Amino acid sequence: MENVDYIIVGDGYASLFFAHQLIKNNKSFVVFSEEKESASRVSAGIINPVVLKKFTTFWKAQEQIDFLKETLKEIEKYTGQNYLIDAPIHRIFHDENEQQLWLKKSSNDELVHFLDQNFTHLDLAQNDFNSGKVNQSARLDVKGFFVGLFDFLENHKHLLKEKFNYSDINTSDHTYKNYQYKNILFCEGMGVKNNPFFSEIPVNPNKGHHIKVKLSQTLPENITIKKKHFLFPIDDERYFYGGTYDREQLHHEIDSSAVEQLTNGLKEFYPEDFSVEEVNFGFRPTVKDRRPIIGRHHKHHDMYVFNGLGARGILNGCYFSRSLYDYIEKGIPLHQEIALERFTS
Ligand SMILES: Cc1cc2nc3c(=O)[nH]c(=O)nc-3n(C[C@H](O)[C@H](O)[C@H](O)COP(=O)(O)OP(=O)(O)OC[C@H]3O[C@@H](n4cnc5c(N)ncnc54)[C@H](O)[C@@H]3O)c2cc1C
Repeated sequence: MENVDYIIVGDGYASLFFAHQLIKNNKSFVVFSEEKESASRVSAGIINPVVLKKFTTFWKAQEQIDFLKETLKEIEKYTGQNYLIDAPIHRIFHDENEQQLWLKKSSNDELVHFLDQNFTHLDLAQNDFNSGKVNQSARLDVKGFFVGLFDFLENHKHLLKEKFNYSDINTSDHTYKNYQYKNILFCEGMGVKNNPFFSEIPVNPNKGHHIKVKLSQTLPENITIKKKHFLFPIDDERYFYGGTYDREQLHHEIDSSAVEQLTNGLKEFYPEDFSVEEVNFGFRPTVKDRRPIIGRHHKHHDMYVFNGLGARGILNGCYFSRSLYDYIEKGIPLHQEIALERFTS
């Protein structure tokens, strides 16, 4: 029997950012990965403190951005790689009203550090009303992040490439197969619906597609352009454009209407030819009040859930992994905004 402080089930942002807390604090743990294409691996990697429809911000945005940057520096120390791409978002304005709204909001205390007051004209994109730059926005190198962290976990014997089987947990002995655990953390994204201990938590799938495209004329700079969806370069040849949102068509196949929505969206501001090289999709675990769900099982006090990261998996996953760690290890209460109890009491 091997003793571990934690078993983590799942291998997306929730799992990996929590694993980082454990690495930092010298805890022993194993991560179960069924090696499926997670929502996290499909994600665009956008790190954005602004809601770009209404030009508003959200709860703890500045703290979340600062904490993510600090965390990525810590991860860089032990994986040897930087995963933060300094490529700000440029939001193309639809009309003059949007420009005026942006300017008005940019002097709000909450937004002054995020909405740049100088507008930019983007070459090679249709932007008759220019674009506004979101300061402090960036991108995560999603592929690099998963390769780097998985290599580290594997090399340090923290990674088990197998599906976690719930019926093999012995809740009275606190064992799973040949592991004696102190705590089990469930981070399965939408896979939580198969978890007999937490299947009732109110997370709902929101399906997102993205396309990878070849542009006939490459864009001049490594920036992220936002109109309808996000466009940015992923390598020398290809660009990422996405993602869509759909709560209705939840089958596990590519949806042609989503691909059409994306190609039409891109044509709106990219006037040259392009070809679609690849289509991917994933299911965001979303919650009605747009806040994560974090907490302890009401009966099994060594079981925890970390889910509901929604459309902001990177910021939410990173920031709230520390809240969860502090809750379990130091007894610091969770904010009621993210606590599981908001649904159970
Ligand atoms: C198209 C798209 C674009 C997105 N873009 C962004 C973006 O730009 N920025 C951003 O911040 N967020 C983005 N998101 C949202 C983000 O991806 C999600 O919030 C995040 O991935 C959720 O992470 P998670 O760890 O909770 O779940 P997941 O990433 O779904 O990971 C859960 C993992 O657990 C595994 N698992 C489940 N059950 C078991 C089991 N029994 N045994 C072993 N493993 C198991 C699953 O296979 C899965 O790999 C995007 C999402 C989509 C779909």
